[in-house]
Amino acid sequence: MEKNFTKKMEQALTAVKAEIIDKLVESNKDFKEIVEGMAPKDLADVASDDIDRKMIEAVGSKELNRLKLIESAITRIKQGKYGLCMKCGKRIPNDRLEAIPYALLCIQCKSAEERRNR
Ligand SMILES: [Zn+2]
Repeated sequence: MEKNFTKKMEQALTAVKAEIIDKLVESNKDFKEIVEGMAPKDLADVASDDIDRKMIEAVGSKELNRLKLIESAITRIKQGKYGLCMKCGKRIPNDRLEAIPYALLCIQCKSAEERRNR
């Protein structure tokens, strides 16, 4: 994986994460209080684990799942494993990552999983 691309994706992921938290803060008073209680330097520093413990009811699981995916992707960038499918280890094509920066599975594994979950 090229360094520039990974860097770009890391920035994109951090931005999306801050955006989701920002939106939740705007739309949810309870969430706002919790985030303010955490006093993060940056919205992107808010960890979904903390949110998870305190906020699962107020936030709803859909946005929380997205936050978790984004955090996993950022972790994988730090581990140097970003862009490799978590299941089969193959490279995920850049255009897929550009469309979904937090994609952790290649298209084949993803559609196999979706079939199973149906
Ligand atoms: Zn795969």
